[in-house]
Amino acid sequence: MARQLLGKEVTAALNEKIKSRAAALKEKGVEPTLGIIRVGEREDDLSYERGAVKRCETLGVACKKILLPADVTQEVLMDAVRQVNEDDSIHGVLIFRPLPRHLDEEAVIRALDPAKDVDGITDGSMVGVFAGREQGFPPCTPQACMEILDHYQIDCTGKKAVVVGRSLVVGKPAAMMLLKKNATVTVCHTRTKDMPSVVKEADIVIVAAGRAGVVDDRYVSPGQIIIDVGINVNDQGRLCGDVAYDKVEPIVDAITPVPGGVGSVTTSVLVGHVVEAAARKCR
Ligand code: NAP
Repeated sequence: MARQLLGKEVTAALNEKIKSRAAALKEKGVEPTLGIIRVGEREDDLSYERGAVKRCETLGVACKKILLPADVTQEVLMDAVRQVNEDDSIHGVLIFRPLPRHLDEEAVIRALDPAKDVDGITDGSMVGVFAGREQGFPPCTPQACMEILDHYQIDCTGKKAVVVGRSLVVGKPAAMMLLKKNATVTVCHTRTKDMPSVVKEADIVIVAAGRAGVVDDRYVSPGQIIIDVGINVNDQGRLCGDVAYDKVEPIVDAITPVPGGVGSVTTSVLVGHVVEAAARKCR
């Protein structure tokens, strides 16, 4: 039976670190603060916001919300972004996306100060990830994958890593972050030939394809570590990953479940970024 790499164990350890860092900053007179810009009232956004605000409260991070109507103009939204950029009491900013269709999302992202981009959506943050330097913040989901590897002391140095998926939000940054950890990285996508044999060769596999059960027993081999980023709803209406868990788990060494794996770590990563942004301001 494979070892389960559990999000709640990673989150518990991460939360302790974040909490004590936030408390230390407060002692220096800095209260780490997340600015939330939400346009409209999409149920997905509201539910993520409730989770993020609750996690912030538990960990000693304040939240300031800027709530705008669904029919807000580009001008008013750009003003809100300028306002959070200039507000020294706000250290990190979360902008809910996708924005309503009448708004120019790219312009909004371009306007955000990368130093406050705790969700890793700006080009500035992406440069930081690709250059391997402290600039902006990596997107929370690939960072959550790295936190899982770190927590379970999975050393990537010299290991063969395969990332399935090449999106800018998960696959590409995950590949760069594995490279920074000295893995030898291959990225697979829909044009990859003979993907099962490529994936089978890896020591560490991160799957972010957005297709339920795309990696099954034909793709894996004994000894592998499997990180499943996927969040899908199956025919029975249940959450499932991009990995066919029941077929893969008996073969590999360790695997993240869905739900209860990567997804449960991302909110803490976001809050951790806010605390890091506040700490950088103090340096
Ligand atoms: P995306 O933008 O749709 O990208 C999917 C990538 O997977 C693409 O690069 C695509 O290749 C590749 N792909 C799709 N089907 C494939 C196949 N059969 N074989 C090989 N490669 C395949 O998705 P995403 O935003 O990266 O998200 C990926 C998954 O992660 C989704 O299930 C999403 O729900 C989940 N997710 C989870 C979290 C979390 O917090 N856990 C956060 C964000 C996303 P091409 O480039 O060739 O099209």
